Amino acid sequence: MTQSTIPVPEPDEASRPFFDGAAEGRLMLMRCIDCQTWRLPARQHCDVCLSDRYTWEPASGRGRVRTFGIMHQRYHPAFQVPYNVTVVELEEGPRLPTNLVDVTNEAIYVGMPVEVVFERYDDVTLPRFRPARDL
Ligand SMILES: [Zn+2]
Repeated sequence: MTQSTIPVPEPDEASRPFFDGAAEGRLMLMRCIDCQTWRLPARQHCDVCLSDRYTWEPASGRGRVRTFGIMHQRYHPAFQVPYNVTVVELEEGPRLPTNLVDVTNEAIYVGMPVEVVFERYDDVTLPRFRPARDL
């Protein structure tokens, strides 16, 4: 899907592996080399052990809806209201703010199992989530 009119994030040096992974269809997360804690968003030091050593690893792409809101206010002309803003708790633990697709807003519930899909917008590919299909 191409929708070039919505505002999209610009990858910077710290987040580039995340967006490069998305462009390849993989949900890449930063992970502490010393204690294995996942870091999302990407940051220089580990919250748990303060290590500055990290690697990037693919996440499963599966998770559950932790919380969500339905937005009725149009904050940008390209947004079609109402739309959902959802926090997905990944299997690996980190929570990712995103949007659910392929589901009506009325059908979303806390705890819903979801899986990642990728949508390309011009130069940036963004992870979205849909109801999990392999249950
Ligand atoms: Zn650590």
